[in-house]
Amino acid sequence: MSSFNPRHRADNPSGQIAIALYRVSQVIGYLFRKRGTEQNLSPAQIQALLFLRYSRTGVRTIGGLSSRLASSYATTSGVVDALENKGFVKRQPLPEDQRTITLQLTEAGSQKTALVDDVLEVIENAISDLPPDKQQAFMDVMQHVVGRLQASGHVEVYEMCWGCQFFRQDAHPDMPNAPHHCAFVDAPLEESSTLFECPDFIPISSL
Ligand code: SF4
Repeated sequence: MSSFNPRHRADNPSGQIAIALYRVSQVIGYLFRKRGTEQNLSPAQIQALLFLRYSRTGVRTIGGLSSRLASSYATTSGVVDALENKGFVKRQPLPEDQRTITLQLTEAGSQKTALVDDVLEVIENAISDLPPDKQQAFMDVMQHVVGRLQASGHVEVYEMCWGCQFFRQDAHPDMPNAPHHCAFVDAPLEESSTLFECPDFIPISSL
């Protein structure tokens, strides 16, 4: 089965959609390269900055970034070295475990991240032209496709607590600083922690 073969996809909507997604991926690659040229960053460096801006604190490590970039530890370490040399990232031992080195954005890194944060705006604008019911249908379909790819190990999905099956909202009314609960790690959650992307996220819809 070759989605690239026009004869094959003439009779196969799934092949036509696969090629449409391929074209979108080409646009995304182009957008990252273009923004990278403008900001003197590589596409991997942009992804690393965005990861450190939005991921849950505990995964901001070389290992966490390496899974997100789907790159080797050595390659990821090189990306972090480059960002560190530019003054955008600093390595810091975790206070409770000095052997674990975490990665943090510096003030300059945060400012730089703000300049690349809207890199997917062109894609979002193209989708927002659709009427709301078609956007909802599109989202349902994409969640199905991404779920299949996640289950087969082709992609790691990081999302926020609010749509996660492990999230227990307001489970600790007596703890104003950490009112929610994560059943995956069996620990209370601060409100602010629920707004970061987490690699352990499992959507409620997969129940
Ligand atoms: S597993 Fe789910 S509830 Fe727990 S921190 Fe991750 S996203 Fe939040």
